[in-house]
Amino acid sequence: MSDTAHRITLAGTDVSFHCDEHDTVLRSALRSGIAFPYECNVGACGNCKFELIDGAVDMKWSEAPAWTDKDRARNRYLGCQCVPLGDCTIKLRTSPQYAPVHPPRRVMGTLAGRCSITHDIEEFRFALSADMPFEPGQYALLNLPGVSGVRAYSMSNIATGDSADDARMLHFQVRRVPNGQGSGVLFGGLATGAQVEIDGPYGMAYLRRNVTRDVLCVAGGSGLAPMVSIARGVAVEPALAGVKLHFLYGGRTPRDVCGRDMLASLAGFDERFRFEAAVSDVAHEDAREPWTGHVGFVHELADTMFGDRLRDMEIYFAGPPAMGQAIQRTLLARKVPFGQVHFDQFY
Ligand SMILES: Cc1cc2nc3c(=O)[nH]c(=O)nc-3n(C[C@H](O)[C@H](O)[C@H](O)COP(=O)(O)OP(=O)(O)OC[C@H]3O[C@@H](n4cnc5c(N)ncnc54)[C@H](O)[C@@H]3O)c2cc1C
Repeated sequence: MSDTAHRITLAGTDVSFHCDEHDTVLRSALRSGIAFPYECNVGACGNCKFELIDGAVDMKWSEAPAWTDKDRARNRYLGCQCVPLGDCTIKLRTSPQYAPVHPPRRVMGTLAGRCSITHDIEEFRFALSADMPFEPGQYALLNLPGVSGVRAYSMSNIATGDSADDARMLHFQVRRVPNGQGSGVLFGGLATGAQVEIDGPYGMAYLRRNVTRDVLCVAGGSGLAPMVSIARGVAVEPALAGVKLHFLYGGRTPRDVCGRDMLASLAGFDERFRFEAAVSDVAHEDAREPWTGHVGFVHELADTMFGDRLRDMEIYFAGPPAMGQAIQRTLLARKVPFGQVHFDQFY
């Protein structure tokens, strides 16, 4: 805790926590182990809203999509975007499932290397200045030079590497977004050896180690990373040794398809770990080689392959919002219990 920390009290309780200068209300609460509801951490989902009862806060990104005029009128703020200007009292309903498995911490990451995955996705590997334990499927926030706000990227590796070096590495698989600030810096401007502040871990869509249902991972676009991390986590978790994992990847054109090689490196590939891909636009001009795999959207592939058996699976998914919404509709129609479905929506 720094000298300039402020005390935040949860109204109607004896719970309070310290928030360092420049830290956000949400992240400082999670650092103190408080079960503060959230999802995206980047101002888009609105799950971290609270009511300010006493004190003052500064909303760092006043145009955040989830902060509405109604919120402003009702003194409601986004926990992920505001920093306190002094001691505050806030009204918030905590919820036990948001209690962090690993309280997030801020470390320095040094860009150690990068490699290409597809025409628009690259893997960036950062060596950390200190340990950052995390669960398979979680994400971290990168404070990239010259970028306003932080950017969320999911880890594709797992925290328990084979060597001591691996234990202090984070691998991110990032899609180049046209005119994107954060991805633009990663792809264009960040040299090997550059240092970046990394804050994590965050996210609720992490591998449930105590559930022995077969696992379905569905990924689209940049949603590859957290699903690969889940698969790697299943592969090394003794409690899940009897669990089969199906990995479905959805791309727009054949050249978007990726992930098979990452699954193929896991012991039991094609038996315990299976990979299928679907492409929605086989006629696209970028489709240089004839596509012989599934045609259509990845949620349709999941429904065709498993039908009502989806109800017996533990399901993780990640990717663009449209894909996430389509999968949720499919799972709802199949009456998959909500508690078996895990995702942190990408924005
Ligand atoms: C939980 C989660 C996990 C993700 N994991 C991955 C991943 O593994 N791989 C991947 O490629 N992408 C991932 N994303 C998407 C990624 O975070 C970026 O949105 C994407 O790379 C585009 O960022 P950009 O800066 O290039 O584009 P921009 O269009 O410049 O920025 C878009 C993003 O930045 C936020 N933002 C914009 N302006 C501000 C501001 N002033 N202050 C604060 N925030 C701002 C927006 O909410 C949005 O998230 C994830 C997103 C979330 C929410």
